Amino acid sequence: MQKKIIVIGGGFGGLSAAVRLAAKGHDVTIFDKRDKLGGRAYQYELDGFKFDGGPTVITAPYIFDDIFEAAGKSRHDYFELKPLDPFYRIFNSDGEYFDYMRNEEDILKQIDRWSPADKKGYLKFTENTVDIFSLFHPYTDKPFLTFKKMLNIMPGVIRLGAYKGTYRHVRKYIKHKFLRKVFSFHPLLIGGNPFDTPSIYLLIMQFEKEWGVHYAVGGVGSIIEGFRKLMDDLGVKVRLNSEVERIVVDHQKVSAVQLKDGSIHEADIVISNGDVAFTYRNLIPESSRRKYSNRSIDRKSYSSSLFVIYFGTKKRYLDSKLSHHNIIFGKEYKKLMREIFKGSKLPDDLSLYLHMPTISDESIAPDGCELFYVLSLVPNLKANINWEEIAEEYKDKVLSYLEEHYLPDLKENIVTEHYIDPPHFQNTLNSHYGAAFSFTPSLLQSAFFRPHNRSEEFDNLYFVGAGTHPGAGVPAVLSSGKIAAELIDPTPQNGAG
Ligand SMILES: Cc1cc2nc3c(=O)[nH]c(=O)nc-3n(C[C@H](O)[C@H](O)[C@H](O)COP(=O)(O)OP(=O)(O)OC[C@H]3O[C@@H](n4cnc5c(N)ncnc54)[C@H](O)[C@@H]3O)c2cc1C
Repeated sequence: MQKKIIVIGGGFGGLSAAVRLAAKGHDVTIFDKRDKLGGRAYQYELDGFKFDGGPTVITAPYIFDDIFEAAGKSRHDYFELKPLDPFYRIFNSDGEYFDYMRNEEDILKQIDRWSPADKKGYLKFTENTVDIFSLFHPYTDKPFLTFKKMLNIMPGVIRLGAYKGTYRHVRKYIKHKFLRKVFSFHPLLIGGNPFDTPSIYLLIMQFEKEWGVHYAVGGVGSIIEGFRKLMDDLGVKVRLNSEVERIVVDHQKVSAVQLKDGSIHEADIVISNGDVAFTYRNLIPESSRRKYSNRSIDRKSYSSSLFVIYFGTKKRYLDSKLSHHNIIFGKEYKKLMREIFKGSKLPDDLSLYLHMPTISDESIAPDGCELFYVLSLVPNLKANINWEEIAEEYKDKVLSYLEEHYLPDLKENIVTEHYIDPPHFQNTLNSHYGAAFSFTPSLLQSAFFRPHNRSEEFDNLYFVGAGTHPGAGVPAVLSSGKIAAELIDPTPQNGAG
């Protein structure tokens, strides 16, 4: 039977759920408060430059393919993905680098340059990572609603040592200090501290090896545009500039959403792609919640936030040592991570991710120009940093660092720039404490212990996106859309559209 479904938020999780449910014949409407779809993957178009606002590392194309196939379409007709190798160029604080390649032989050659004695340990580490992947991958697109399921995976978690912090786990196999960073940074991609995040999440590393790291031609904005077209084909209604202010509840059910303009829209089912903490805390009165009191929500552990500067230069930097995806480690990694994830002030040291996509695609910038974004992990708003006061100074610090070490004469060549900071995550993206990746991926906030895809409070409220199972990152939130759609309508996807 056709259901009226409202999706709050047009991030990747919301788009995935909307497509799958519309493809099954349901009447789907997305409300998003912003003027464009994409959420964290919003594309900023400034002075002829197309800046992807968030995700840039695209892996597991099969997940996109599945969504389009579920709607009876081919993803290739909507956007193009191009494999990248190296996946990442990883710099130490002296500017020496390790090319993190897809192929095992190539990785071993890189290890040989840094620490030949670590080759053997690396191979053992890879075996363990493959085991972790084999065990947990099947759970990444299935619901995790029962504790029994958690009990099923625990023996594997213990046997593989996958409960241990990632860095500690890697340290067992790899001796060289810099290489330990190289093989333990992946939790950062989903908002986790490599020193705390259980090594279960090393499965991300294996995702990349299995399916590659890809670039979306035209930027990730082209993927969002592809979804937009697909949803037009399927008749999904998209209402932008439409912030949901309240979810109307009636005992154990939700019945409608109310927008900021006061209008009420009824629904059989509501799916929130908004931040889970924000949804419970701000859209549903506390008196209607049993498990998720404001206190329990506030006491959860939240990921770091981010400071991201998007900038375009009138000169090209192809002669620099940079690659498409660059990770630049600072001097005091462990201390820095502690300060970012647990601290109360802005750390002095910097560890950066620098994106230089014009190396692979000149179409996203004016002729003769280079497009970059630089991302710095910073504490979330629990830290009480006054961003209004320090944002400009911090931006200057990051750009000065890049100018000194990687991009000579940078500042005089910048022709356009924009930045986002923790208040952006809180105020524009409605994320509690301005966390960039929602709850941290700790053992006690993963799988069964993460807020469920079907609300534990209301029978017909569902969650997709970073704050629910399986977690943050594009492949995960796309999978959350699949999980929610299958919980809502378990009939097989016929691909008929
Ligand atoms: C800078 C950055 C870089 C990243 N890089 C990568 C990467 O390279 N690879 C990767 O896989 N992942 C990356 N991530 C993580 C990944 O982008 C996110 O985990 C993922 O995109 C989140 O998707 P989501 O479905 O949770 O929705 P979101 O993107 O969070 O979107 C939620 C949407 O809900 C809307 N919304 C919220 N509240 C309301 C409301 N009340 N009413 C109406 N609308 C509302 C918001 O406007 C927003 O559009 C990155 C994240 C950031 C921030």
